[in-house]
Amino acid sequence: MNAEEIKTYRMFINGEWVDAADGGAFDTSEPYTRKVWARIPRARKADADRAVHAAAAALDGPWGKLTASARGLLMFRVADLIARDAEKLVRIETRDNGKLISEMRAQVGYLPQYFRYFGGLADKIEGAVLPIDKADTFNYTTHEPLGVCVAITAWNSPLLLAVNKLAPGLAAGNTFVLKPSEFTSASALELAALFHEAGFPPGVVNVVTGFGGEVGAPLVEHPKVAKVAFTGSETGGQRIYETAARDFKHVTLELGGKSANIVFEDANLENAVRGAISGIFAATGQTCVAGSRLLVQQSIHDEFVERLVDFARKARIGDPQLDTTQVGPVTTSPQYEKILDYINIAKAEGAVCRLGGKAATGPEVGVGQFVEPTIFSGVSNSMRIAQEEVFGPVLSVIPFKDEDEAVAIANDSLYGLAAGIWTQDLRRAMAMPKRLKTGIVWVNMYRAVSYMSPFGGYKRSGVGRENGMDAVREYLQTKSVWISTSTETADPFVIR
Ligand code: NAD
Repeated sequence: MNAEEIKTYRMFINGEWVDAADGGAFDTSEPYTRKVWARIPRARKADADRAVHAAAAALDGPWGKLTASARGLLMFRVADLIARDAEKLVRIETRDNGKLISEMRAQVGYLPQYFRYFGGLADKIEGAVLPIDKADTFNYTTHEPLGVCVAITAWNSPLLLAVNKLAPGLAAGNTFVLKPSEFTSASALELAALFHEAGFPPGVVNVVTGFGGEVGAPLVEHPKVAKVAFTGSETGGQRIYETAARDFKHVTLELGGKSANIVFEDANLENAVRGAISGIFAATGQTCVAGSRLLVQQSIHDEFVERLVDFARKARIGDPQLDTTQVGPVTTSPQYEKILDYINIAKAEGAVCRLGGKAATGPEVGVGQFVEPTIFSGVSNSMRIAQEEVFGPVLSVIPFKDEDEAVAIANDSLYGLAAGIWTQDLRRAMAMPKRLKTGIVWVNMYRAVSYMSPFGGYKRSGVGRENGMDAVREYLQTKSVWISTSTETADPFVIR
């Protein structure tokens, strides 16, 4: 690609397309070809300030004055525009991120539903009149927006992660500054154009691009910001939580995971093999809910691992733009190096490599940064490969004896995002979810998400929930209003 073909993006602040205040920009490249394809504005503190002020002004201005029903209608419009431009968004994300085109078609095809669901909720955020236990007193509650929200997202599912925050937050009446990952900024800027076209007032949704330390941190520190909704690494989450605490800002943190996918001897093994594969090789394992610890009951362990290896060996690796590809490239080069390091750590720890275990090469991967689908057996739960998040196509298989041991191993993790259970025993299917310390449990399925169902983790996997009614509550604060209807004068020295 020559210089003329490189697309130049601008940021979206206060309803206008702008460059960074100091004119800075950086390149973004395709993980498959490693070629630079676009230039992205490199925002800093001055841009963060400008975007937050625009978001604050919109809150006090046209957006704050809209009825909740009118807010909902704008969200329906954006849903229609995403549906109209779905294929364009799919192509951009596949190019910029390396996500499979088949996965992106499913993901982008689903995004309009988020805006329809939460747009529909916008005018159903009702307070209550309380039958208060005081004579001659009227008490009611209202739910109000928090104010300016900052959404900071990771690179692994850029559009979905942004929409998870924008849709409930806008429904609740907040305004936003979105900062996508520096590795995958393009799709957020394309999304901004659709908010503009839908007729959102200027400043309601702003998108600033750049690096965490340069523009992310000033956004989180900004005194006019009421909430930070973050998806990313544990270290990033810690930093944001600490900074937000200084001003008592609200936070939602969606962080890492080391989820256990548990296969019992009574499972439908064909389905369980597919469930294990989808848990770790879908999205090249670059998903926070990856079922990266596969717990298999001892009685079926050897047979199950054989079947798994046979299935995974046939996975088609290569160009993410092809419909037939099943495993795409690793999105970022630091992540690629990190995955290969973990493979070496696992080997040094004594895990047995049953498949893969190295960088993928060959004509189908070209110059792309690919790791072979990798399966380790003989893993003990105390090994680093079983405790630390790899965020790549690397599976650790751990045997267990019985239900109690499966629960003990699954819960022996700093994380608590998700878990999978494979069983045909009804009692077990009903009893296990309660025993697992995770925010999500899938039974005889894996990696399902919906705008309707709360998403988030226990322990170090995060704070708060996205999706469903829970998500709207994360963007609201409650006001209690007291009105006296008494004709008598109250004693000022006694609590009423
Ligand atoms: P990261 O924490 O490095 O970056 C995430 C975002 O935070 C980026 O936009 C980055 O620019 C910004 N950022 C970094 N430092 C910042 C700071 N000091 N202040 C403000 N912003 C800052 O994470 P990543 O490498 O992009 O993403 C991978 C990680 O995200 C994985 O660990 C994965 O588990 C996690 N993840 C979690 C979920 C979930 O929902 N639980 C979903 C996807 C990814």
